[in-house]
Amino acid sequence: MALIVQKYGGTSVGSVERIGAVADRILKCHQDGHQLIVVVSAMSGETNRLIGLARALTSQPSPRELDVLVSTGEQVSMALLTMALHSRGIDALSLKGSQVAITTDSVHSKARIQSIDDRRLRAELDQGKVVVVAGFQGVDQNGETTTLGRGGSDTSAVALAAAVNAQECQIYTDVDGVYTTDPRVVDGAQRLDRITFEEMLEMASMGSKVLQLRSVEFAGKYQVPLRVLSSFKEGPGTLIKMDEDDVMEAPTIAGIAFNRDEAKLTVIGVPDTPGIAYQILGPVGEANIEVDVILQNVGDEGKTDFTFTVSRNDLEKAEVILESRIAELGALEWRSDSKIAKVSVVGVGMRSHAGVAANMFKALADVGVNIQMISTSEIKISVIIEEKFLELAVRTLHSAFGLDAVEAGDAGD
Ligand code: ASP
Ligand code: MG
Repeated sequence: MALIVQKYGGTSVGSVERIGAVADRILKCHQDGHQLIVVVSAMSGETNRLIGLARALTSQPSPRELDVLVSTGEQVSMALLTMALHSRGIDALSLKGSQVAITTDSVHSKARIQSIDDRRLRAELDQGKVVVVAGFQGVDQNGETTTLGRGGSDTSAVALAAAVNAQECQIYTDVDGVYTTDPRVVDGAQRLDRITFEEMLEMASMGSKVLQLRSVEFAGKYQVPLRVLSSFKEGPGTLIKMDEDDVMEAPTIAGIAFNRDEAKLTVIGVPDTPGIAYQILGPVGEANIEVDVILQNVGDEGKTDFTFTVSRNDLEKAEVILESRIAELGALEWRSDSKIAKVSVVGVGMRSHAGVAANMFKALADVGVNIQMISTSEIKISVIIEEKFLELAVRTLHSAFGLDAVEAGDAGD
């Protein structure tokens, strides 16, 4: 008998039929003798619908009331699922975040979990009940309803799994696992049987939107084994885990991640003197703009060019800052380019394998893709390229690193 936390996302509980299918799945697991805590999201589209209602009334809804409003989506799901379980003869009950209690700070719409009281959960489980918990919501010290940020039910599930020391936290979603890259870009993309937390963070932060990033960080920190699987299709999914043996046997490259959400800014002809990076990026950071890749060229006659990338949403804000600073910096001019993309090869195996960067650059050169910027970490090499080459680059690297499925039909085996 194991204690398992299962989380079902919005599409998995998107209709009463689907809620019924989830209940069948839970019934099976319950009959196998496992203890279950089930975390649910709002039915798909519901959170957006609720936010839309608020915005139709006011452009600035009160953060407190907005949390009171959007947290109802998960409550609908938890009650309906519990009813479906009852009708299958399972003793189950639903609990709101405040009833558990999942205590958070008071930052409405992006609250962080501070503690989880496991007494009520354990008492119900000990009585043989399946406990259904509303995801995404918590309660602050003053009893106010809070929510954890979009996609926050993943984090609810991981936090609950950590609190009760669950054997596994299973995230049921509409994909059957984590892939070597986006299957919409590469036909031969394969489901990974396992991936480490670090790799998953790199894959997720670069656009593989399977899990909320914070939930992966949380799982890594508390060593909660996470499994991503499909609620529509049987299969083992992808296990996200970290132990040394896994690392030793890991293939060099786990996957190819990419991100179109990048824009590049270049300051041309800045004086090549100490403090220049700070003078450019200081005000950018103060404006809460996150800088990703940075490149400073070798100076020529006391002048140099300085390039950095930001998220496309922040481009305009960054442009305004550069425009206002250009004279003070003693620079000639600035330029920006939003038609760029970032492609990364990710894998813990590159710690112990040299030559990954060279192989990557050769593969891109062979297909004529020009690299504009490069950044590396211990388990990732990223390049900034022209956006129109993105798909070509991803496909090229996926096959260069041996990630293509040999035959359609045995993907992931
Ligand atoms: N319902 C919330 C959202 O749509 C939380 C979640 O689904 O994880 O963001
Ligand atoms: Mg989600």
